[in-house]
Formats: sequence, C-alpha cells, structure tokens
Amino acid sequence: MNTLVFAQLFPDEATCREHYKNMRIKRGLTCKKWGGTGHFWLACKGQVECKGCHFRTTLRRGTVMEHSHLSFRVWYLAILFMTATKTGISACEMQRQLGYKRYKTVWSRMHRIRTLMGRRDDLYSLTGMIEFDEGFFKEATPEKEHQRLKRGKDSQRLENVGVMVESTPLVDINTGNESKHCRYFKLKALDTQKSESINTLFQNSVTSDRVVFTDQGNNYQDIHKFVDMHITEKSSKNSTKTTLKLAHIEIGNAKRTFLGVYHKMSSDYLQNYLNEFTYKLNRRNFADLFERVIKAAVFPYWEESA
Ligand SMILES: [Zn+2]
Repeated sequence: MNTLVFAQLFPDEATCREHYKNMRIKRGLTCKKWGGTGHFWLACKGQVECKGCHFRTTLRRGTVMEHSHLSFRVWYLAILFMTATKTGISACEMQRQLGYKRYKTVWSRMHRIRTLMGRRDDLYSLTGMIEFDEGFFKEATPEKEHQRLKRGKDSQRLENVGVMVESTPLVDINTGNESKHCRYFKLKALDTQKSESINTLFQNSVTSDRVVFTDQGNNYQDIHKFVDMHITEKSSKNSTKTTLKLAHIEIGNAKRTFLGVYHKMSSDYLQNYLNEFTYKLNRRNFADLFERVIKAAVFPYWEESA
C-alpha cells in the first residue's frame, strides 16, 4: 500500500479503529476465563463481552498494541512507513513523520512491530537446499563510535549473524548456464560463534531432510546431526561466487541497508532489525505487506502459532 491509498482508506482515527475491530472479530475471539468464542460488541465501551461469563476485554489485549496509548491511526501509519519503504525507516525519521513528541515511545513501538515480524517468520522452517554462512555486523551507537575513535578501530564490538538461504540450482537446458533460484531466508543473531548456537539454529529453523552447504568453519562439525546431508566446501573466492553466493549477497545487503538507515544500532536489538529486513526480503514479491502486518497485529500472541 502506498501513502495515497492509505490516505483514502484511513482518513481518520474512526476508520482505523473500525478496520482493526473488523479484522480482530473476523480473526475470532476466545474468552480469557474459559475459552468461549461467543462475544457481544459493546459499542459504547469499545469492548467485547463474553456471551458465557460476561467478561469484558479490549480489542488490543494480547496483541502488538496492548498497553499502548497510541491511537490506532498512529499504529497504522507506523506500520505503513515500515512496510512501504524498501529499506526501512529510523525511529528519528518516524518521530518526525508522525509529529510525535517522545522518541522513546516511537522507538519501542517500532521494535514491537519488528518482534511481531520475527515471530511470523519463526513459524516457518526452511526446505530445499540450504546455504549457510556467517557475517559480522558492527555495532553502531554514538557512544561506541566515540570509544572506537579513542581506542582505535579494533575495540568496536562485532556481532555474529547466521544467514540461511533456501536455494535451488537451475541449469538452462539450451545454454547449460547454471543459476540459482532462492525463496526464503533466515537471518539470526548468534550468541557466540560457538557451535551450540549454530546447532540450536539448525534445530529450530530447518526440517531434518535437508541438504546444507557451508564452508569448512570450525563450528560446523555437528550440523550433520540435524540435516540429511551436510556438504562443506573450502572457503575460496570461487565458493563465495557459487556455493554460498546468495548467503554472501544478503549479508552484504543487510549491512548496507542498516548503515544507510540507522544512526544507532545496539547489538541488543540487532535481531529485531534483522527481523524487519528478513520479513521484507521473504515477501519481496508480495504487494500487500501492510495488510499482512495488520493481519498479524490482530493476533493475540498466545494464539499466534494457531
Ligand atoms: Zn467468558
């Protein structure tokens, strides 16, 4: 959705609230007390009431908008700016666009949306042939930058990120040229470079009947336990152009995107930035990102996996 369409569909708070209400009710409500699904809409209170036990609750409860005083329209606009921009938008810029006073509020709401995006992608496991590689991301904060200048370049903290790509090799029948088709990606911040965090990643993110390609990293010796076949190739100029090409491209793209958009990026929130990047990357061929995020935003978190 672009800004013009948004302005037509959601001109004011009432249209946003009505839209959210309809999406939320269409999604279905379950009573917190006993799980009943029948509810009345209490227009005067802006709440729903359980038909069985008369327990009342707001539409925001359990969703990304829970405990937030921001209007529905501000939430909708924030989701619009995050999904309509290819590279994303900084909290500073968002604050300016929304005309909002408090930076911290805008910043934390954006991270909630990124967490939501990550939870959606976590529902899926990768299939097909998988490339796996690691990239190092520099932490960027003004304080860190100051320390770095004071102490010399090497004091800057590096964060390790694992990149998984579903890729299918394709050979052109007429020319014999080889290329690759890629579908879904996963980018995960790794706690340490140690093999445990890589093992956990494979356990959670791929189905066991997969073929995985990596270079000959020291931390990859257990990967074969989680997949059907693990093929290693010695790291070389050639492997970065062939076997692990897609993983390398996306590590580079993610770094460039982050550098261009965010002035501050603390390693504590690196996974959230990766969530947004991956969410958009995996849905690069879809035109309805805004609608998809709103749809995800009406799910209470305890029902998300359903
Ligand atoms: Zn009830």
